[in-house]
Amino acid sequence: MPVADYRIYCEMLDRARDGRFAYPGINVTSLTTANAVLKGLAESRSDGIIQISTGGAAFASGSSVKDMVLGAISIAEHVHRLAERYPIYVALHTDHCQADKLDKYVIPLVEETERRRASGLPNLFSSHMFDGSALPLHANLDLAEKLLKRFHLNDLILEIECGVVGGEEDGVKASGAAKLYTTPEDTLEVARRLNEIEGARYLLAATFGNVHGVYKPGHVKLKPSILRDCQEAVEKKYGKDALFYLVFHGGSGSSLDEIHAALDYGVVKMNIDTDTQYAFTRAIADHMFKNYDGVLKVDAEVGNKKTYDPRSYLTSAEASMCDRVKQATVNLRSAAKTLFKT
Ligand SMILES: [Zn+2]
Repeated sequence: MPVADYRIYCEMLDRARDGRFAYPGINVTSLTTANAVLKGLAESRSDGIIQISTGGAAFASGSSVKDMVLGAISIAEHVHRLAERYPIYVALHTDHCQADKLDKYVIPLVEETERRRASGLPNLFSSHMFDGSALPLHANLDLAEKLLKRFHLNDLILEIECGVVGGEEDGVKASGAAKLYTTPEDTLEVARRLNEIEGARYLLAATFGNVHGVYKPGHVKLKPSILRDCQEAVEKKYGKDALFYLVFHGGSGSSLDEIHAALDYGVVKMNIDTDTQYAFTRAIADHMFKNYDGVLKVDAEVGNKKTYDPRSYLTSAEASMCDRVKQATVNLRSAAKTLFKT
């Protein structure tokens, strides 16, 4: 199927919130990782979200060009072409973009979508994240409001963050004093400011102790009940229609109980990066250790071309990442729920 259009994407998110499940939002950095996600989603009969971080996008453009806009466009175009061959819907998203990077990443990508729309082509991306969590809330929401108005004109969905996800992502580290737990007051302010923009759609990454990267069990104190408190407060003040569509960042190492609690409280997208990175690399490590004498030219030997052809280990890596994607769709209860009808 083609990449989900705005109508389908909205329907996906509504069904997830009503049905207490979430879509995996999986970071990719290459054609192979994007293919692994499409394969995993299709084999699970789950819709999903493919996303690209600023660092991943720069990587995708090659180490001498290092142009994150070009890298993101390149992966997005690949996904637009390949998605046609899979019987599921996928949305295209860009991950964390801090305020100082908006003009270098999200805005040029929105302009690209605007150009495409003007000539009758579909949007390039379906949604973008603006991460203003390092700013005071009012400054975060000033920028979010401006973006959301422009996004709404272009059938784009905005993801924002309120409260700070701990840990480190793409070299951006949360400070020790960061606010790891958001409050109902903060999220009420989000609703007050953003729900003013009639009909516009946004996703909210509200933090409840989550951290980027992987931690040993017990290291992270997740409090999904914070999400419930935020939803209850917003429903009480603005009614059922104002319930948030929440995003779960930094979920590696969370227990299934914690994940399911988050789904019950309105998480509709869970970001997955660390776990799929590991799955990809795990298969490559296995290949290298098992084929040591083949991938290397040891003692003046010639090695084994079959084992050092990158396709051999990248095919295993694709399969391993695909399996991890399938596991995510089961954990998030999105498996077998695609909106696509064959
Ligand atoms: Zn994140």
